[in-house]
Amino acid sequence: MKEELIQRFTSYVKVDTQSNESSETCPSTEGQWTLLRLLVEELNQIGMQEVTIDENGYVMATLPSNTDKDVPTIGFLAHVDTATDFTGKNVNPQILESYQGGEIVLNEALNVIMSPKDFPNLKDYKGHTLITTDGTTLLGADNKAGVTEIMTAMAHLIQNPDIMHGKVRVAFTPDEEIGRGPHKFDVAAFNAKYAYTVDGGPLGELEYESFNAAGAKITIKGNNIHPGSAKDKMVNSMKIAMELHSQLPTQEAPEYTEGYEGFFHLLSFNGDVEQTKLNYIIRDHDREIFNKRKAKMESIVQQLNEKYGSDTVQLEMKDQYYNMREKIEPVKQIVDIAQEAMESLDIKPLIKPIRGGTDGSQLSFMGLPTPNIFTGGENFHGKYEFISVQNMVKATETIIEVIKLFEKKA
Ligand SMILES: [Zn+2]
Repeated sequence: MKEELIQRFTSYVKVDTQSNESSETCPSTEGQWTLLRLLVEELNQIGMQEVTIDENGYVMATLPSNTDKDVPTIGFLAHVDTATDFTGKNVNPQILESYQGGEIVLNEALNVIMSPKDFPNLKDYKGHTLITTDGTTLLGADNKAGVTEIMTAMAHLIQNPDIMHGKVRVAFTPDEEIGRGPHKFDVAAFNAKYAYTVDGGPLGELEYESFNAAGAKITIKGNNIHPGSAKDKMVNSMKIAMELHSQLPTQEAPEYTEGYEGFFHLLSFNGDVEQTKLNYIIRDHDREIFNKRKAKMESIVQQLNEKYGSDTVQLEMKDQYYNMREKIEPVKQIVDIAQEAMESLDIKPLIKPIRGGTDGSQLSFMGLPTPNIFTGGENFHGKYEFISVQNMVKATETIIEVIKLFEKKA
């Protein structure tokens, strides 16, 4: 299985599938079409049924049930796009057999070195075969590792028909990194009862809690007057912006929070005297506290408008996604099955809240409860991204084990 995983993974990462927020199309970039079409071919090749690709690039396929038992249909999803933070062009994966610890020279000429001093997580990988970058791009383990593992699990089940299983659906999707993954996902066509995104980090990660998320765009109107004659007339919109920001709790920002602590995050601040625009994101795992955070933003804006005039500050606030826990808790057995699958493979499940969202956060609210399981990747979205092949094997085995357990329990 190791060679098969390496071969698939290294071929997928060579396709540049970086998504692009400023594109209006779906998928947002042509490179994603290239990989998605390649995956259609491969799904057919390995013997999957009902292989489809729709006009938005969503690829779906079926592994038919081989049992008479009434097993719920489960799905596995992975996104094909890579992060916008770092280039994914000309990825040149490096294979390091049996890592012996210590520094890894990613690129000698450019002196790019990955050191356990900066990345203490490297100590978990002694003896593993690692796939790294050449120090000039990201790797794309997020989430081509997930794609690889799902594809390999399907191939394994097709080649081993003695393993009993219900109907399994798989989907490969675009534009997760720009938050649009599920936007055009056809839940009805996918027609699974439960699903898992295979899009997590290190070995054992299992997640079913995400943030509740909103975005707040604020526009502040000032009044620019010649500074020599500005007395009682000038309104400096940047100062009102600073006044607004100063009323948010200083410690409730990403740089001061972890675990279940929520925050207000100022993404951008652009202004002059006449006009200032502030862009915030608001995050909290707890729905009630999330609502209080939004109410706080509204009340600060209202109070500033009372002080400076009714349309001085404009607030445009939109919910982006919600904590999937709300939808997964009622069907908690799907998390328990993933946990049991990992334990039976000697993997210690690491259940923790995601400080972000996944495609599953949106899918769960679209009627498809979707927790997230690990892929084995580390240091996502940059040149230090790497993945252990041994842990890719474990992720693939976890997928297979989950499928087996659903059949067993039916
Ligand atoms: Zn991802």
